[in-house]
Amino acid sequence: MSDGLDLFDKASLIAAHDEGHAFDAVVPPIVQTSLFTFKDYDEMIACYLGEHVRPVYSRGLNPTVRMFEEMLAKLEGAEDAIGFASGMSAISSTVLSFVEPGDRIVAVRHVYPDAFRLFGTHLRRMRIEVTYVDGRDEEAVARALPGAKLFYMESPTSWVMDTHDVAVLAALARAKGIVTVIDNSWASPIFQQPIALGVDLVIHSASKYLGGHSDVVAGVVAGSSDLVGRIRSEAYPYLGAKLSPFEAWLLIRGLRTLPIRMKAHERSALGIARRLQEHPSVETVCHPGLGNHLPPGLSGTSGLFSFIFREGVDLRRFADHLQLFKLGVSWGGHESLIVPGEIVLAQKAQPNSAVAFGISPRSVRLHVGLEGTEALWSDLEAAIAASSG
Ligand SMILES: *Cc1c(COP(=O)(O)O)cnc(C)c1O
Repeated sequence: MSDGLDLFDKASLIAAHDEGHAFDAVVPPIVQTSLFTFKDYDEMIACYLGEHVRPVYSRGLNPTVRMFEEMLAKLEGAEDAIGFASGMSAISSTVLSFVEPGDRIVAVRHVYPDAFRLFGTHLRRMRIEVTYVDGRDEEAVARALPGAKLFYMESPTSWVMDTHDVAVLAALARAKGIVTVIDNSWASPIFQQPIALGVDLVIHSASKYLGGHSDVVAGVVAGSSDLVGRIRSEAYPYLGAKLSPFEAWLLIRGLRTLPIRMKAHERSALGIARRLQEHPSVETVCHPGLGNHLPPGLSGTSGLFSFIFREGVDLRRFADHLQLFKLGVSWGGHESLIVPGEIVLAQKAQPNSAVAFGISPRSVRLHVGLEGTEALWSDLEAAIAASSG
């Protein structure tokens, strides 16, 4: 992976339709329109007959959104991609494109909590069963797969950061003709490229690293033209959770700095994780980059990880003493954030994924942002000192 990205050459739809029309602006325009008009009857009917692909209505196709989709597809090594209004709409639209009542999904345990809740509410009501397996146990995965329609992966998993051998798991599913999906939000395409590992469809919460500035909620799914086409033909237009041109434009801006941001998050988070590991008040650090080798398939690590305090640290005092780390969900932007495990465990959401998630009440999830490692470490060290004993 090079230090920079050269993604703009493949923005074919914009290039085909907008040559010379954007004043040679170095930043692409936001095509902020709901509909596109036709020159004449013949052009309109050619489009309706499918002889000519062009934007008609922004719920189906918008050039700014398309530009983001093409860039993301290229980054993931995929043939195609579709942008969504959120990571969750990318997940729900993808899953609903491949299962019907009576079908079964196999999912790795500890998936993103709202994915778990989607599976336990809407899918359950539609008589779609989800079986959870420990993705680290390849034999358990192999036993669970026969008869399933979809295999839903996430690696590393949210919070406890279990890592899986994605290539091995994908091959097990492929041998049974099961479509595989992975949530790749944590690693981003900079550190994990699941298509090359044999996964069929790659989902991102673009609200996290792809956007990278904590100002967008969006999602995307990438894969082969055939599988993405299935999502594009029904779930995308009819469920209607489209990505907006302005947010696509912010994502295009985010992608430009993705490699350097990811490397900065990696360096800073590893530095902090190693120091936490040595700290007498810390029991365990859950960070996939602390072993001698990176887990298979991962070429780097991002800024999100968790750790567990030993007994005797007051989490309320710890959280309230922090100056740079703010209390807040989500991650992937400039800001460093924490979420205390005991707050997640207190949540009333049903089904409550916190237990299924393996969250310890003494754990803290950290997102290490871009503020500077030494300042962040001083902040953490002071807060631990103020809340211990
Ligand atoms: C945030 C997140 C999602 C959901 O994405 P939204 O953009 O918030 O809908 C899905 N997966 C993971 C791993 C996430 O962190």
